[in-house]
Amino acid sequence: MEGLKTRGGTTGFVPTMGALHDGHIQLIKASKAVSSITICSIFVNPAQFNDPRDFEKYPKSTEKDIQLLERAGTDIVFLPAPEEIYPNGNKNLEKYDLGSLETILEGRYRPGHFQGVCQVMKRLLDIVQPDHLFMGQKDYQQCLVVQRLIGLMHIPVTFHAIATIREPDGLAQSSRNRRLNPDQRKHAIAISQSLNYIREHLLYDDADAVLRIAREKLDAAHFKTDYISIAKAEDLQPIQSWNGKEKAVALIAAFQGDVRLIDNMLLN
Ligand code: AMP
Repeated sequence: MEGLKTRGGTTGFVPTMGALHDGHIQLIKASKAVSSITICSIFVNPAQFNDPRDFEKYPKSTEKDIQLLERAGTDIVFLPAPEEIYPNGNKNLEKYDLGSLETILEGRYRPGHFQGVCQVMKRLLDIVQPDHLFMGQKDYQQCLVVQRLIGLMHIPVTFHAIATIREPDGLAQSSRNRRLNPDQRKHAIAISQSLNYIREHLLYDDADAVLRIAREKLDAAHFKTDYISIAKAEDLQPIQSWNGKEKAVALIAAFQGDVRLIDNMLLN
C-alpha cells in the first residue's frame, strides 16, 4: 500500500469483521470526509474470539458487504487471508502491555480478547499504513485499547472514535443482532433502556441504587448479564458517586439466549 502514500493525499482506514450494517457505513462516511482514499478491511480475526463457537457462528456476508462498501464510495476493500495476517500461525505472537484495560469488563469476561485485537490491529496498521483510523464507540473499551496500542508502538495515525448508530428503538446496530430471534430482538432494547436509565438518574441517586434498577430491567428482559458498570471514561475504573462533571461512561455486556451483546453510553 506504500504507493498510495507516495501519490500524496491522506488515507483513512476502517477495519471490520464484515456482516456490515449502517454503523460500519457511518465509519466509511467519516473516513471519506477527511481522507482522499478510504480503505476498509474485512477479516474475522480468530485471535480475538475466546469462544471458538462464537467464531464459528460469526455471521458472514462478504458479497453483500462488498456491494454496500462500493455504494458507500469505499476506494479499496482489503480481504486478507489468515496467512497474510498471521504468517507464523499462532506462534511468537507479540504481547502488549495494556495495563488494567486487559483485565476489567470485556477483558475479564473474554480473556485474551484484547491481545487478539492488538495483534490484528498492529498487523493491519503495518500493512495499510493509514493516516486516519476510524473505529466505533460502540466498542468503547476496544477504542481505549487501540489508542493505547498506537501510543505504545508509536504508530503515526490519528484515531477517530465514531458515535454509535442505533436502530429506531435504541438497540445499537451490531452484526450479532442478526442472530436474535424475533422474541429476543424485542427484549434486546432493554440494554439501551438500562443505559438511558443510568444516564437520567445517576446525578440524583448513588451508583449502586441506579445499577440495581438497571440490572432489574435486564433481568426482566431475560438477559444474562456479564457486567453492568459505571466507570471513568478514560480508564474504565468504576465510579461510586458522580458529580456530573467527571467524564463517565455506562457499559453493559449481556447474553440474550446465546447471543452476547455489548453497548455503552457516555454520561456527560
Ligand atoms: P466489527 O465488524 O464488529 O468488528 O466492527 C467494526 C467497526 O465498526 C468497529 O470499530 C466497531 O466499533 C464499529 N461499529 C460496530 N457497530 C457499530 C455501530 N452500531 N455504530 C458505529 N460503529 C460501529
